[in-house]
Amino acid sequence: MSANTRPSPELSSGAYRRRRKGPKTCHCCKKTVPFCWTCRCGFMMCQDCMYENFSRMSCNGITWQCPDCGELNGYGNQ
Ligand SMILES: [Zn+2]
Ligand SMILES: [Zn+2]
Repeated sequence: MSANTRPSPELSSGAYRRRRKGPKTCHCCKKTVPFCWTCRCGFMMCQDCMYENFSRMSCNGITWQCPDCGELNGYGNQ
């Protein structure tokens, strides 16, 4: 029986540069998320909120309607 205690390697975080347009802030839940659905008026909604409001925001699964300006936005044009 051998007790093998090995020290956990210290992972240095920092070599992590992956910024495209900066974090987005959901206009619905105010959380900062890496991705939001955005309307041309500037409205942003995160995946979670979009999913929760899917039945209200989208009637066909292809477009979603911005609650701010009423614009129809496609799900695939990001
Ligand atoms: Zn949200
Ligand atoms: Zn809008």
